[in-house]
Amino acid sequence: MDRQVLEINRGLIRRFASTVRTLCAGQGIEPTAVVKGYNALDEVTDALYDAGYRSFASSRTAHLKKVKSRYGNAETMALRVPMQSEAESVVELTDISLNSELAVISLLDEAARKAGKIHKVILMRDLGDLREGIFDRDRFVEAATMVETGYRNIRLHGIGANLSCYGTVVPTAENLSELAANAAEIETCIGRKLDAVSGGSSTSLYLALAGAMPRGINHLRVGGANLMRSEARDIPDDALPELTDEAFVLRAEVIEAGLKPTHPIGRLGTDCFLKTKAFEDRGVRKRVILAVGAFDIGDHAALAPLDSGVKLLGCSSDHLIADVQDSAHEYRLGDTIPMALRYQAMLFSTATGHIEKKFV
Ligand SMILES: *Cc1c(COP(=O)(O)O)cnc(C)c1O
Repeated sequence: MDRQVLEINRGLIRRFASTVRTLCAGQGIEPTAVVKGYNALDEVTDALYDAGYRSFASSRTAHLKKVKSRYGNAETMALRVPMQSEAESVVELTDISLNSELAVISLLDEAARKAGKIHKVILMRDLGDLREGIFDRDRFVEAATMVETGYRNIRLHGIGANLSCYGTVVPTAENLSELAANAAEIETCIGRKLDAVSGGSSTSLYLALAGAMPRGINHLRVGGANLMRSEARDIPDDALPELTDEAFVLRAEVIEAGLKPTHPIGRLGTDCFLKTKAFEDRGVRKRVILAVGAFDIGDHAALAPLDSGVKLLGCSSDHLIADVQDSAHEYRLGDTIPMALRYQAMLFSTATGHIEKKFV
C-alpha cells in the first residue's frame, strides 16, 4: 500500500465545477477553467470537461499544449502576459491571450500572420492590484482602440482585470463597475460589442452568488473554486453546501511519534528557510513527524488535517511536524494522516514527481 499518496476525487471535482458553471450561467457569465493549479493533470481536466467546460486557461503554454492534444475542440487561453520570446508558441497553442504590452501584441500579430491565423487578445486593465494590466484609464482605452485597428492578424476579443493576486485587492461591485464602464467606452470607440469582459477569477464568484456582479461582466477565469471551497472566497458559510475541501487529500506517513518539549532548547537563530520564529512553551506534548515537506506542499499552512485534533507546527524541506496531543486517535509509527489541500499545496503536490497520485 502506498503510504504517501495524493487522492484526487474526480466525482467531487465534476460536482464543484458544475456548481460553478450553473452559478455563472445564472448571471450571464461564461467561465473558462484554469488548469495551472493542478499542473494540468489529464484526469482532472477530464472531470472539468465532463462538467461542461470547453474553454481552458493556463499561465504556462505547456499545459495548454496538453489540453489541445487531448481536446482538439477546446478553446485555450494564455493567462500570463506573454514573454516576447514565446510569441510564436502562444499563437500556435492558444486561441486567446491576456496582454498588457502593445510591443508584445505586435509580435503576436507577426507570428499569427506567419501561421496564417487570427489570434485573439484580451487587453488587461490594472484596477489596483498592481500585477499585470494598463493602469491609466485613458491610455487603456487608447490601447484597446489600437489593438482593434492596428493589427491585421489580431482580434480584440475583450478586456479583463486581475485582482486578489499580488495586492490582495478584493473584487467588488465598485472596481468591476470601472471595468464594465471601460468596456462600454471602448465599444463606443470601436463601434461593436466586445466578446468578453473578464472580471477576474474564483475570488469574483461571491459577487455572482450575491447577484451583485456589475452588468457587462460576462466572463471569469475560474481555477481554484472548481477544485476546492477555500478558493471561493467570501461566500457565506451556508451557501453552496456542495462545495467542499475534500477533492484533494494528501496522506502522509508517520515516521516518528512520541513526546517532546514544545519550546526548542538552546540559542535560537533561524530555521532552514532563514526565518526567525517565536515558540510558545506548552510543556511536553505528543507529536509526530510526517514524511512530507515544503518540497511537496510549499508551506504547512497550505494543509488542513481532516482530524481537527491534529495541529501542524511547521515543516522543513522533507519533514512535517504535527502536534497530536488533542486528537482522539492514538497515532503510531507507520500510520498515515489525511490532510486536505489548500491552493499552494495543490500547486506543489500535483507538480512533484515524488508523490503518487491516486484518482478515485
Ligand atoms: C491563475 C489565474 C487565474 C485563476 O485564479 P483562481 O484564483 O485559481 O481562480 C485567473 N486569471 C489569471 C490571470 C491567473 O493568472
